[in-house]
Amino acid sequence: MRVIVTGGAGFIGSAVCRHFVLDLGHDVVVVDKLTYAGNMDSLEPVASNPKFSFERHDICDADAMNRIFSQHQPDAVVHLAAESHVDRSISGSDVFVKTNVVGTFTLLEAARRYLSLADRARAKDFRFVHVSTDEVYGSLDDVGHFTETTPYDPSSPYSATKAASDHLAKAWHRTYDLPVIISNCSNNYGPYHFPEKLIPLVILNALDRKALPVYGDGSNVRDWLYVEDHARALGLILARGRPGENYNIGGRNERRNIDVVRQICSCMDRLRPIENSHHDLIRFVPDRPGHDRRYAIDATKLESELAWQAQETFETGIEKTVQWYLDRADWWSPLRRRVYSGERLGLLKA
Ligand code: NAD
Repeated sequence: MRVIVTGGAGFIGSAVCRHFVLDLGHDVVVVDKLTYAGNMDSLEPVASNPKFSFERHDICDADAMNRIFSQHQPDAVVHLAAESHVDRSISGSDVFVKTNVVGTFTLLEAARRYLSLADRARAKDFRFVHVSTDEVYGSLDDVGHFTETTPYDPSSPYSATKAASDHLAKAWHRTYDLPVIISNCSNNYGPYHFPEKLIPLVILNALDRKALPVYGDGSNVRDWLYVEDHARALGLILARGRPGENYNIGGRNERRNIDVVRQICSCMDRLRPIENSHHDLIRFVPDRPGHDRRYAIDATKLESELAWQAQETFETGIEKTVQWYLDRADWWSPLRRRVYSGERLGLLKA
């Protein structure tokens, strides 16, 4: 199977490429603009594989997308390219609208055009997997879970643009019969995660003995999933998911942010002891505007229909992740030096 993976140089996209090429034997064509979040080093394990190729383009470029479809004749698209950081969306939403909404629209149109020219067999089996987030559902109180029928209620510019792109994807299925499947996944963590996000930021700040910032009182809850479990879920959804359906993806690993940070500190105390404890570095900082209280995924549909199970618990996944950052300064130190050194993002000016 030949798959176009958009955003393949990003955190989740690169895990998808490694899984698809090395475990599933798919041919992969990455389409990625290489924004600050895109990193060819994350693709190093597959870069020289004959099953892998790379196209550096903006998904908003319709001519380039049409050329790529027609040249590579894909059997599927797994669409991950997006602006992904909520804090950046608060202070600069325009690029989120462009990439997440206009970019998705451009890609849907390119896929539609490609299928209108393709033979019937290819058109019948083609899949467009649109990768989205649980943040489109908004915020939960202390009880309950998001299911595939939870109404959309996004809070941040990021989640609003993802919700908009999900609606476009669904409309292209209903109106044009494009075989779209949407996945809505909870917060990911793991290797190759850009150090602006909570878990890698805390690990790297702890390593530098810098303050470990926790938004608000730290009681916001996220439902964490190890990135390779997400990649396996996308492989299954691509192979056996039903067009027109949404699939929630989550590992049943709800944690308060403060507990995530404490767990990383305990891990660091064991793996890289210092004279005091890393726990002493924790600092509570002003909350994120519009910060959703709690996310929690009910992944029953994915588990029962496609027999997916998360392989990592939060405990095993965090241990692996901390160890990976301790071992891979070659990957993250250029990013900390040149791209993002840990400053606070996304605060509204008074
Ligand atoms: P990321 O920011 O690490 O990677 C995004 C990739 O998209 C980068 O390689 C970047 O260069 C590329 N890109 C950005 N704009 C582009 C454009 N205009 N044209 C082409 N390429 C472009 O993001 P991620 O965390 O890997 O997330 C991937 C997808 O998964 C996103 O759609 C995101 O909404 C979704 N998602 C993420 C999470 C999470 O916890 N990270 C959870 C659920 C869903």
